[in-house]
Amino acid sequence: MSVRPVWTALARAAAIACAVVCAASAVPTRGLAAAPAVPVLMYHRVDTVLSAHDPITVGLTVMAPAFEAQLGFLQRHRFRSITLDDMWTGMVRHVSASGREIVLTFDDGYEDNYTVAFPLLRRYGFTGTFFVVTSTVGTPDHLTVAQIKEMAAAGMAFESHGQHHVDFSALPPSIARHELENSKRLIGGWAGDPVTFFAYPSGRYSESVERSLADLGYRGAVTEIPGFVSATSRPYELERVRVAHDDSLAEYARKLRLPAP
Ligand SMILES: [Zn+2]
Repeated sequence: MSVRPVWTALARAAAIACAVVCAASAVPTRGLAAAPAVPVLMYHRVDTVLSAHDPITVGLTVMAPAFEAQLGFLQRHRFRSITLDDMWTGMVRHVSASGREIVLTFDDGYEDNYTVAFPLLRRYGFTGTFFVVTSTVGTPDHLTVAQIKEMAAAGMAFESHGQHHVDFSALPPSIARHELENSKRLIGGWAGDPVTFFAYPSGRYSESVERSLADLGYRGAVTEIPGFVSATSRPYELERVRVAHDDSLAEYARKLRLPAP
């Protein structure tokens, strides 16, 4: 597979495969032009108190009351949280696209994802997608394997953010490939579900990394490029919407292209 197709190219490939393999299948494969764009929100920490007051930690933290207000807003607007795999299927096969699908992603695997975000996601009936760095799993302030297993059993999705939180575009290709391969295997083993998406640490990527992702069976990768994922998105350069520490609900609505509450 080419490393730089757009979803529409994947849809054509899927349609051809379907015509051959499942001619009698009911899976719809109509054109993607009308498929609604999907916001993929990017969170890091969700916490009840700031774990530190340096600008980086503050910038990465959405406070629990704000997060709960955001989930309430999504619920009132009848959003349905989906996984990246669901989105991939929807984009490629154009199924279940209502314009109210959303993906909630959390980078870095902080422990507050389990203690704070997870209970709130469950209370509001949403699914989160968690990108973990395998070398930090089980270290202070980060998720443990037991927590990952419990969250996965409750329907949360786990994907790769590498073995180490490093700039993948600057790694020698063989090292990058090793990181992608090992993290995929480890996280898939912990969560009990295949890992098929990658989040580039700090949003840094290269053609070589994209090629390795495709070779290793990753379906796509998320960046920090602002925007919604649409039929014209590149699978290994998917856009996200960053939720900031001080976003008001009006700003959150604006980011979702909705009127202020
Ligand atoms: Zn990160």
